[in-house]
Amino acid sequence: MTTKNTYSNADIAHIDRTAVWHGFTQMAHYEPLVIERGEGNWLFDIEGRRLLDGVSSLWCNLHGHNHPTINAAIRDQLGKIAHVTSLGMIGRTAVELTGRLVDVTPEGLNHVFYSSDGSSSVEAALKMAFQYWQQRENPQPQKTKYVAMGAAYHGDTTGGVSLGGVEHFHSLFGPLLFDVLRGPCPDTYRLPENVTPETACDHYFETFRDLVTGQHQQIAAVVMEPLVQGAAGMVMHPEGFLRRVRDLTRELDILLICDEVATGFGRTGKMFACQHEQVSPDLMCIAKGLTGGYLPMAATLASDAVWNAFLGDLDQNKQFFHGHTYSGNPMAAAAGLASLDVFEEEQVLENLPAKIDHLERCLQPLASHRHVGSIRQRGLMVGIELVEEKASKQPFPAGQTRGARVCRHALDRGVWIRPLGNVIVLMPPLSIQADEIETLVEAVRYGISQEFPGE
Ligand code: PMP
Repeated sequence: MTTKNTYSNADIAHIDRTAVWHGFTQMAHYEPLVIERGEGNWLFDIEGRRLLDGVSSLWCNLHGHNHPTINAAIRDQLGKIAHVTSLGMIGRTAVELTGRLVDVTPEGLNHVFYSSDGSSSVEAALKMAFQYWQQRENPQPQKTKYVAMGAAYHGDTTGGVSLGGVEHFHSLFGPLLFDVLRGPCPDTYRLPENVTPETACDHYFETFRDLVTGQHQQIAAVVMEPLVQGAAGMVMHPEGFLRRVRDLTRELDILLICDEVATGFGRTGKMFACQHEQVSPDLMCIAKGLTGGYLPMAATLASDAVWNAFLGDLDQNKQFFHGHTYSGNPMAAAAGLASLDVFEEEQVLENLPAKIDHLERCLQPLASHRHVGSIRQRGLMVGIELVEEKASKQPFPAGQTRGARVCRHALDRGVWIRPLGNVIVLMPPLSIQADEIETLVEAVRYGISQEFPGE
């Protein structure tokens, strides 16, 4: 039996390699990287190595690590109470956060259901949509199907995986899953034959419309990531696609669930991606950045129409049949409130355009590299896709792990980034500074040059 605080760094690395089971990681090849602390946009590992956090931990950190405002809010709440349930009661900070979220999210989302991670916020949205059609004033119990886009990613719980369309992550679990109607993947890099950038929006929208029209009587909801499909490899949608999907779902009486788990809280340059196209969904999922990336918390926001369908007399049994132990945790909510305060105090959204432009300018020279097929950027979300052959967009075989190898080289330059297959993902904290943007991009350039020497 080991007593506490007796582990050497070598013990820690050994336990990490052999006992900690990391998600989406081949443990036979895992090289331990154990972080001890963070400061601003930097991480420090147990060996004292300093690493720029180029992907905001896992796309969640917004204002840097160890931020005094967020730390103080969590500490202050800890001095009061660490947790109360949200079944039948609630902590004060969660109520305050609810008020603030209703204010900052798209118009019409006036009700907030809390959970602990993005996947759970999607599960809640799926069940809400289902229950809504069963029990609203004019019930439509046959509306039980869901539509998800090609290469969709909505989390790792069973409902989310059912919606998922990333072959590599999801197909294995097929026998466990419910069927969904699969829409197009509105990818602006790899276009279908005879489709041009100018006609892409029409093409994808018409494909989507043909899928839903005719069976819309059976469809409960369309689920989509607005503007950017992150885990698909930073797939960027054509402008206007979201708006048209919103209009059609309204026309055909289908709920729209927008998954803003990755895109929310400033990542795309606006607070929420939906706001670029003046879209307000019926249900919206948020997580990652909700607490500034400090504590686990997620939420599903709902419109008045959805909420109203759950109101009734006690004997009608219309309440939402769903709830988690840690929903609305007061410390996470305090962190969420503090994060929204930082948005205001540090004019985070106002400062973004200059950062986004600087990042774009720094990335430009990489585009001419023989194996850089595409650099796609929306706000501070970037995918740099490595291809075997540029003209044909021929991907590298997955087994060559080119993305992972480039990221490994970047680590030697003191920058932490994590790829999605052949796509190098950059998603720095919104607090990243101009010189740090330069460091980040320089490490990517170095990584690519090491991976393809002489090219
Ligand atoms: N939806 C989207 C769009 C995501 O990007 C993610 C996580 N990357 C999730 C859902 C799942 O969130 P979590 O990992 O917090 O469960």
